[in-house]
Amino acid sequence: MAHEKAIEAAKAFVKDVKLSHLIGGKWVPSRSEQTFDVINPATEERLATVSGGGADDIDLAVKAARNAFEGSSWNSISPHERTRHLLKIADLIERNAEEMAAIQSLENGMPYTSSLYVTKNMADVFRYYAGWTTKLYGRTHPTESGVTSYSMREPLGVVGAIIPWNGPILYICWKLATALATGNTVVLKPAEQAPLTALRFGELILESGLPPGVINIVTGLGETAGAALVAHPGVNKITFTGSTAVGKNIMSVASQTLKKVSLELGGKSPVIVFPDADLEKAIPTILMGFSGNSGQACTAGTRVFIHESIYEEVTAKVSAAAKQIKVGMPFDPTTQMGPLTSREQFDRVTGYISIGKNEGANIKTGGERVGQKGFFVQPTIFTEVKDQMRIAKEEIFGPVAAFMKFTDEAEVIKRANESEYGLAASIWSKNNHNANAVAKAMKAGIVWINTAFELDPVAPFGGYKSSGIGRELGAESIDDFTQMKTIVNRY
Ligand code: NAP
Ligand code: MG
Repeated sequence: MAHEKAIEAAKAFVKDVKLSHLIGGKWVPSRSEQTFDVINPATEERLATVSGGGADDIDLAVKAARNAFEGSSWNSISPHERTRHLLKIADLIERNAEEMAAIQSLENGMPYTSSLYVTKNMADVFRYYAGWTTKLYGRTHPTESGVTSYSMREPLGVVGAIIPWNGPILYICWKLATALATGNTVVLKPAEQAPLTALRFGELILESGLPPGVINIVTGLGETAGAALVAHPGVNKITFTGSTAVGKNIMSVASQTLKKVSLELGGKSPVIVFPDADLEKAIPTILMGFSGNSGQACTAGTRVFIHESIYEEVTAKVSAAAKQIKVGMPFDPTTQMGPLTSREQFDRVTGYISIGKNEGANIKTGGERVGQKGFFVQPTIFTEVKDQMRIAKEEIFGPVAAFMKFTDEAEVIKRANESEYGLAASIWSKNNHNANAVAKAMKAGIVWINTAFELDPVAPFGGYKSSGIGRELGAESIDDFTQMKTIVNRY
């Protein structure tokens, strides 16, 4: 679809959104009277009003997912057939990528060009997991004669997926592709700021011919719909991406029903720039690392440690490049950075900029709102930052970075690891031997050397420490969505 047509289609979809949830293969009117508005963060105008689903809606959705799981149309079908379902969904994502990307840009402000790039990649996540359905192996166990002992991998049952607003398409696909490949059924609760992409995804699911109830989608608030899903005794696992505070709460509530949980939480990822770094490559990547998606990325590289011998040069060059970033409307093709996704996020980020100033850090560049309407903030670099400052320790989730000096390798490894988080790290050096040694020393789930932000479904992704529990993507997430059954047969 041409971009203009896709954007028109996205606007038409958003305008017509109904107060309903996808339950058991149909759009079902909400049981709840509550509604909430979805705001376009670039204009601050209302985009749509959606249903604030409650415990009753969640209960219906969980029952539909349970029926689909226990029935004969999903978990017990041939894995080849499941593969075909996943491939069909992948094709539909690809075919509708422009419109899906445009809906995502409307509701969360991501520049359309980035949104489209991410959406197209998500078709490959479904294709990668489509290949797994036929490879969910068990084992035979060595034992005495007269006995056969073997194990098989089985799905968990009903999975509750709770996702944030900073990249709805990505989280939908990461979570649902694995859940489906492994034979589970799903109830998805999107974020209140960005539920529209999920609703359009629901239409693609209907179009794909997936058996009814395999994927159910309930819009609603975290404290009502989200909490009801986490507490529901009919849900076997929660897969969550969002803040560390909500993740802790989910784990604690889920313990009451002994649900499995996997949590992808916050980060405050270090970037380490050694004196032999290829600065031509490093400069734009460091900038993108903290300003991409307006810094609303869990992997954002926001603690930038630069060797003292090149500190002035790197700081000056990244700042100069930051000044050139075009902050603007998501559908303008020249835009590099859109708005923050919500008023709440805008207040949080500008609040941290004030905190940084009050703590005595120096604004090298940025620090201001852009325009009077929409939640736009300049890419912001703080220098003279001390490790103990809040802007160096706490996740801001905006385009704000702390640039710090270091002297030697042992020191920077220690400082980089002194964080409650451990999601990602990136290292810049032409000496691969050294860079790999530093990578090994990082307490982080993913370490990039001479690159950043590269995620591929073939490799696991997840956090050390307070950045999370469990892994998404790769073979590892298969373990997180299945359980092993041992069968011992004495004959
Ligand atoms: P959030 O408030 O934790 O929300 C995430 C999701 O959880 C939303 O769908 C939310 O619903 C729901 N939720 C809230 N309270 C709940 C509860 N008591 N029970 C069940 N569900 C509940 O986080 P956010 O504001 O969307 O996102 C920003 C934060 O998420 C950042 O701190 C960032 O670090 C983290 N994040 C981490 C990753 C990662 O991959 N590690 C990715 C993205 C974001 P509502 O929308 O109604 O609140
Ligand atoms: Mg929230």
